[in-house]
Amino acid sequence: MTRADDLSEPSVASHDDALAPAAPPRAGTPAIARVALDTPLITLFDYRLDQAASLGQLVQVPFGRRQVVGVVWELTQRSEVAPAKLREVTSVWHELPPLGDDWRELMQFASRYYQRGIGEVALPAIPGHLRTPMRWPRLLAQRGVQRFRIADGALSTLMENVPARLRAQRRLAEGLAQAGTLDADEAKALCAKAADVLKQWAAAGWVVVETVPFHETVRDAEDAEDAERPDDGDASSSTLAEVLDDDVDSASPPGTKTLTVGQADAVGAIHDALIAAGAQRLDKTPTTDDAPDTPACPPFLLYGVTGSGKTEVYLRAVAEALHTRDVRDAQVLVLVPEINLTPQLEGVFRARFPDETLVTLHSGLAEGERARHWLAAHRGEARIVLGTRLAVMASLPHLRLIVVDEEHDPSYKQQEGLRYSARDLAIWRANRLRIPVVLGSATPSLDSWNRAEQGRYVRLAMPERATPDAVLPRVSLIDMEIERKRQRVVHEGLSQPLLAAIRARLEAGEQSLLFLNRRGYAPVLNCDACGWISDCRRCSAHMVLHKPERRLRCHHCGAESRIPHACPDCGNLDLAPLGRGTQRIEEALAEHFPDARLARIDADSTRRKGSAQALFAQVHAGEVDILIGTQMVAKGHDFRNVTLVGVVNADSALFSHDFRAAERLFAQLMQVAGRAGRAARADGPGDVLIQTRYASHPLFASLMRHDYAGFAAQQLEERRVALLPPYTHQALLRAEARKLDDAMAFLKQAREIAATPALNDPRISLWDPVPMTMVRIAGTDRAQLVVESPHRGALQRFLTQWMSELRALKAPVRWHLEVDPLEI
Ligand code: ADP
Ligand code: ZN
Ligand code: ZN
Repeated sequence: MTRADDLSEPSVASHDDALAPAAPPRAGTPAIARVALDTPLITLFDYRLDQAASLGQLVQVPFGRRQVVGVVWELTQRSEVAPAKLREVTSVWHELPPLGDDWRELMQFASRYYQRGIGEVALPAIPGHLRTPMRWPRLLAQRGVQRFRIADGALSTLMENVPARLRAQRRLAEGLAQAGTLDADEAKALCAKAADVLKQWAAAGWVVVETVPFHETVRDAEDAEDAERPDDGDASSSTLAEVLDDDVDSASPPGTKTLTVGQADAVGAIHDALIAAGAQRLDKTPTTDDAPDTPACPPFLLYGVTGSGKTEVYLRAVAEALHTRDVRDAQVLVLVPEINLTPQLEGVFRARFPDETLVTLHSGLAEGERARHWLAAHRGEARIVLGTRLAVMASLPHLRLIVVDEEHDPSYKQQEGLRYSARDLAIWRANRLRIPVVLGSATPSLDSWNRAEQGRYVRLAMPERATPDAVLPRVSLIDMEIERKRQRVVHEGLSQPLLAAIRARLEAGEQSLLFLNRRGYAPVLNCDACGWISDCRRCSAHMVLHKPERRLRCHHCGAESRIPHACPDCGNLDLAPLGRGTQRIEEALAEHFPDARLARIDADSTRRKGSAQALFAQVHAGEVDILIGTQMVAKGHDFRNVTLVGVVNADSALFSHDFRAAERLFAQLMQVAGRAGRAARADGPGDVLIQTRYASHPLFASLMRHDYAGFAAQQLEERRVALLPPYTHQALLRAEARKLDDAMAFLKQAREIAATPALNDPRISLWDPVPMTMVRIAGTDRAQLVVESPHRGALQRFLTQWMSELRALKAPVRWHLEVDPLEI
């Protein structure tokens, strides 16, 4: 099998992606800058350049009647544009170091792979404030982060003024006292209203705000130089290894855990890869060619069950990468699915690397903050960048290691605009730079698992939990069919065995977690008399009943209305909510356990900024007995005292039309099950109880055995027989129009174009255009056409040609292409 078509292989881009070499303007000849601009047009734009500029520099240029910011992508002497029509670069942002070759190559790759214009990819990857010339001077001036600390001598006054009854504020005050200083993110994690509260405290003189500069990047210039320029080029990797070994020991702070066997093996393998990568860089002398056939370092798949201590492996790997001596200022990138759900991880990293500058990059940051963090990464000041999918696009000139935590998580896939996979781009980026990338998961994506099976990824398995007494939870099913047949009372969807288990936890002072991936009170409101149901007028979906808010809400278009008193069609006063969401479960539990302290975590209860962190903090502080939540509770959190996880209902995902539904459900259930019993318990493992009407479904059999490998093998076999991904590669053409017919007509036309001799390729197959399962959203009808090929290279070539034909059509419908779609 040829690998030339593989996303993870550097060869994809080795030739046509190589950037045009810099053509320095010759004295006397006016230079032309070819600039990438944020427009849907595929081309670069030519401008006359009368001053010095390098590739990758940010420039301001006239575009139409506006001034816009772009990136210098090529420098040349000639332009197709007539000299008289050629406009001039307005200004060059000299103070900002240009964006590096590797960054531009990444953008170029993403642009080609996802079939978008280069400017459409590159400009949105740069924070908005950096694309606003007005802000440039200030941005450069603010180098540092704001931190809060208790004013000298004000500790007791502060504590006296924050009564224990204001729990969140109290947490914040204590946090400040303990940690010395907190930044805005850390404060928010303790108290949702931290921003306001800190302002008040500052006004009262109890707290002071300081701007702490980013650390200097050069720590030990002499050492670094020695390593960088080995005498006579015989920098043997063993010398480097010794250096690294020494550093590793001295780098682990006293009191860190002894690694488990699995962790030690994993850390060892990553360590070797870091050394090999470093040695490769050191060996590179200008005369030898780039040795394109030396194998790049294959991605690591860190396959560790929940609680196996993947975080510790990341921390050790990061420590080693930061101490690589062949560069002065190595950087690492750590990607997480959703940062607000994993604030603990940020804290852990800060605590382990107190002397390194760590910045976060995610969409929750304020614009200015994001720009500052991005700049810190770009200028090499930030050594650790912890971020969500958008962070993969950051400029990191000294990147030496990438970690992708929960690599299977669907949120790595951007669902609008440039529909990229941050995990896949991370792999590409690492490959291109020949640096290690670690993909961690308890339930890897079947794509990654398949590659590990083929030996293309290196699997590092950690099958056991790290803490000595914590064992994997016992997973059992509650057969709801049997409950029904035996006529045992099911209280609002909660069976007797589940309620009994919760009661036992309450009595033991332990916490329970109930998982239901459906928010709201009930998914639909229904009239028994005439059959009316609460449909959304603009979507092919129901309006969901939200009881505490007293609204009907469409979860697709956001439409809202009051809950009708009577049936709008027949006037019947007796409208009944059908089905159950988290709000209804919360209500039922409150009735059943009136003394229990409940908390609900879902998109509704956490709408306000910071409220998710505050709710999680309450759970961690033991202020909650029963936590009810959607998938938001499944991720990352290490709930020490949760010993029971109940899955209220996950049956609908068992029979989805989407062939990935089982994969997602398995991952989700494993993840939520992993919240149980992570800490040591006296009386055995934690319990996971799953209510289902399909107790004999094979997915549950694998789940009860914690047998991801068996589940994966069975799923992959199904996919192989049905020729579905990862055994084929897909792209999706989607069209949207007021009328379904128009969308369908466009797709049919696109299909015909694909069949013309110029494009026809027997390795490509196109399915029939079909309306999407949920055809209408917000008054727009949607249809799609799947293209697939077992040959990624062929698919890529086809898509490029096909797209240029489709763009030329100027179709009256909105359409877009998605490569490697996750949902079809
Ligand atoms: P994962 O991310 O794999 O689910 P975590 O990284 O959250 O697991 O680790 C689970 C728990 O095990 C954490 O509380 C962590 O502190 C602890 N832990 C990790 N490694 C070790 C070790 N070597 N010895 C003891 N405890 C450990
Ligand atoms: Zn009615
Ligand atoms: Zn709607």
